[in-house]
Amino acid sequence: MTIKNNLEIIQQQLPKNVTLVAVSKTKPIEDIMQVYEAGHKIFGENKVQEMCDKWKQLPKDIQWHMIGHLQTNKVKYIAPFVHLIHGVDSFKLLKEINKQAQKNNRVINVLLQIHIAKESTKFGLNTEELDSILNNSELQDLKYVRVVGLMGMATFTDDIQIIKNEFYSLKLLFDYYKTQNKSNVSLDILSMGMSGDYKIAIDFGSTMVRVGSSIFGTR
Ligand SMILES: *Cc1c(COP(=O)(O)O)cnc(C)c1O
Repeated sequence: MTIKNNLEIIQQQLPKNVTLVAVSKTKPIEDIMQVYEAGHKIFGENKVQEMCDKWKQLPKDIQWHMIGHLQTNKVKYIAPFVHLIHGVDSFKLLKEINKQAQKNNRVINVLLQIHIAKESTKFGLNTEELDSILNNSELQDLKYVRVVGLMGMATFTDDIQIIKNEFYSLKLLFDYYKTQNKSNVSLDILSMGMSGDYKIAIDFGSTMVRVGSSIFGTR
């Protein structure tokens, strides 16, 4: 199977309202170009340096999504071009994204990452932390960031019921905060689902899936 075949198979399975982020981390430029030439222009990377290198080398109409954990001191490198930051997990990071976005005279869209998995190694906010960010009175002053949704990663397990429960809990949280829009908060995107679990994620209301190995092969 070629990369292009893999891409087409996944595209056929996605409902129209679900956006595919092709996760190209660790994969070379030639592999990314196969997906690009098939007409797909949305890619995800989890390391700042690697994303910057690829952005420089590849066509400028690619939308780059930062899906990994982002350190405050590295925001400046991706601020000129990043399309969506999936993994925001603190108000401090939001403030830095706002600052760097302003310097670049643009608004940066972000997702807040919620911790839904059993594994403690995965990043993300708990419900109280999410609530405190969305109700922080300083949030409306951050005119160069827009919180456009939530992101989560399910536990890496064969137990489908655990995965379903985790996606369902994120969907409930999303629906609850969706009704509470503010000037720069409008929850439209629910980013959940990877190669192993994107079909379940879609059943539970995902609007954006991040798929790497099912397109590009194992890393
Ligand atoms: C690597 C990665 C993915 C894609 O994982 P696959 O299992 O290869 O599809 C999705 N989301 C995040 C946050 C990742 O780091």
